[in-house]
Amino acid sequence: MAVYNPKSLKAEDFINHEEILATIQYAEENKNNVELIRQILDKAKPVKDAKGTTCKGLTHREASVLLACEIPEINEEISRLAEEIKLAFYGNRIVMFAPLYLSNYCINGCVYCPYHRKNKHIARKKLTQDEIRQEVIALQDMGHKRLAIEAGEDPKNNPIEYILESIKTIYSIKHKNGAIRRVNVNIAATTVEEYRMLKEAGIGTYILFQETYNKESYEQLHPTGPKHDYAYHTEAMDRAMEGGIDDVGLGVLFGLEMYKYEFAGILMHAEHLEAVHGVGPHTISVPRVKRADDIDPDVFDNGIPDEMFEKIIACIRIAVPYTGMIISTRESEEVRKNALKKGISQISGASRTSVGGYTEEERPHDSEQFDVSDQRTLDEVVKWLMDMGYIPSFCTACYREGRTGDRFMSLCKTGQIQNCCHPNALMTLCEYLQDYASDETKKVGYDLIERELEKIPRERTKEIAKERIELIKTSDSRDFRF
Ligand code: SAM
Repeated sequence: MAVYNPKSLKAEDFINHEEILATIQYAEENKNNVELIRQILDKAKPVKDAKGTTCKGLTHREASVLLACEIPEINEEISRLAEEIKLAFYGNRIVMFAPLYLSNYCINGCVYCPYHRKNKHIARKKLTQDEIRQEVIALQDMGHKRLAIEAGEDPKNNPIEYILESIKTIYSIKHKNGAIRRVNVNIAATTVEEYRMLKEAGIGTYILFQETYNKESYEQLHPTGPKHDYAYHTEAMDRAMEGGIDDVGLGVLFGLEMYKYEFAGILMHAEHLEAVHGVGPHTISVPRVKRADDIDPDVFDNGIPDEMFEKIIACIRIAVPYTGMIISTRESEEVRKNALKKGISQISGASRTSVGGYTEEERPHDSEQFDVSDQRTLDEVVKWLMDMGYIPSFCTACYREGRTGDRFMSLCKTGQIQNCCHPNALMTLCEYLQDYASDETKKVGYDLIERELEKIPRERTKEIAKERIELIKTSDSRDFRF
């Protein structure tokens, strides 16, 4: 029998089934243990000192107790604490991105995904470099600066050379004042050598959703194809880090397995990365299974109600305070609004989940991966965020300046990241407003920028930010360091 060991490189040791079951039982037994819950909440609270704000985070066991707690007043406290932590490390900034689907050819048999090999009626598409160019221009014309590229797993149709060439194409396009400044990559688990190639191609985060941490369910949900191999998939982030990629993004597809299992699993994965590589995940995504061509989400009987979904987000935020959290357009405006308060720091906008979708006038469905609930334009999402007091940020400076992996984490942990993130977010928002926003959004945005500039603590930084913003407003000078 495998033994729980976060430092082991074997999936069954660091995502240990027995430890997850014991965690769920421990959480159940202590869900009304007010004394213990108080201790856990106290441990998780942000602490301020001369150097800045720090948070200890929680272990998977401690966080699981919070998740299981059924005492309404304490649950309200959990929500408030999540919001406090989010504000302490991310302020009111929300990073914007869009997915770009390159190819939906796939040889896997994932039962929840319409790209599975046996689906003969979905249109199979793979973008040529010229089509990628058109898609990227359409995305730049909306104002996007950060993309997550997506592809099915198919070594013949989508080999690593195709992915690398596509990344090169994306970075090379400078259309009007636009540029894609960070390309994150969500492709199937691969070898150290191929991760090294991705790193050399200048990718930002390597994202790979675990789908489920439960090995038995995993094997049933991925009955055929290379993705069937649980250990190979679960150990992918270690190979990615060995290949030099220091920002990795985790996620589970909620709805497939019991959420308590996934919750403990994802936190154990984060603990493992921290224990072995000295740096936790850069991001955690929280997708839920959606309706799609030949996929009915109701056949998966572990769907979670919105309220529990939001609590999961809050508990992740408290457990891993320095990790970015991503919510996609799978979720509705309402759910996204609540999730933002609970700890989400990155959202997608105006997403199309079909291959070649951005160059079509109408949202195409023929090659779509799943239904999109939030169908608003980027301009609408940006205005909506600002109306709620958030700063939509198109900043990619950390990546450009090499503040990734443990360098990013150590800055984040000492609260330093906030000294540069706030002005950078305002400058990139200003670029967006100037180049792409509607008049109504511009007005809301410029008022917001003016108010937010005054909050920059260092006088010299404030002065520089004001000068740059004036420059952006009055010229086509765009600073590609952001
Ligand atoms: N082929 C890569 C892999 O295996 O990881 C890329 C993944 S795919 C393009 C991106 C993610 O979409 C998957 O990891 C999965 O979690 C999610 N996904 C698949 N089908 C979905 C559905 N019906 N609803 C919501 N999300 C889905």
